[in-house]
Amino acid sequence: MQEEKEIELLATHYKNIIGLLGENSDREGLKDTPVRVAKAMQFLTKGYEENPQDILRKALFKEDYRQMVIVKDIGFYSLCEHHMLPFWGKAHVAYIPNGYITGLSKIARVVDVFARRLQVQERMTLQIKDCIQQTLNPLGVMVVIEAQHMCMQMRGVEKQNSTTTTSDFTGVFNQAKTREEFINLIR
Ligand SMILES: [Zn+2]
Repeated sequence: MQEEKEIELLATHYKNIIGLLGENSDREGLKDTPVRVAKAMQFLTKGYEENPQDILRKALFKEDYRQMVIVKDIGFYSLCEHHMLPFWGKAHVAYIPNGYITGLSKIARVVDVFARRLQVQERMTLQIKDCIQQTLNPLGVMVVIEAQHMCMQMRGVEKQNSTTTTSDFTGVFNQAKTREEFINLIR
């Protein structure tokens, strides 16, 4: 669908939602809100249009380096698919090359592509790991994500400062001491 058409359609729905929530969608302050929300949501879910494997494949370099490569504190913003409320935090990625490395900024872009979708933190962790494993074929990859969830903080249990940590790994990260090396370096 054309982007303008899509925004128009989304805006119509958001106008209805505003009305259903008990507001007057025609009043001054809300007049342009449906279109603004439509554009914002389109931006926040633009990861569907990008192929993260392509991002890595376009920046593969042959290299003999076989020590741990760590990209830490990659900030991200995502939307939980259960409530469509934000969750955000930091992703830390480590891999041990097996002949090929990739541009460091590309790892951050991969995190972004998966974050800009309706997500759960657990699946996002796994998808980033799989994407790197399948394209770089490293000796191992490990992903740790620390995030705060608006759906926990603003509603329901209202736990204000709790952080959710998820991690997943492949290959040499099955060894506890390899995982420890990574964890120590991101602390
Ligand atoms: Zn949620």
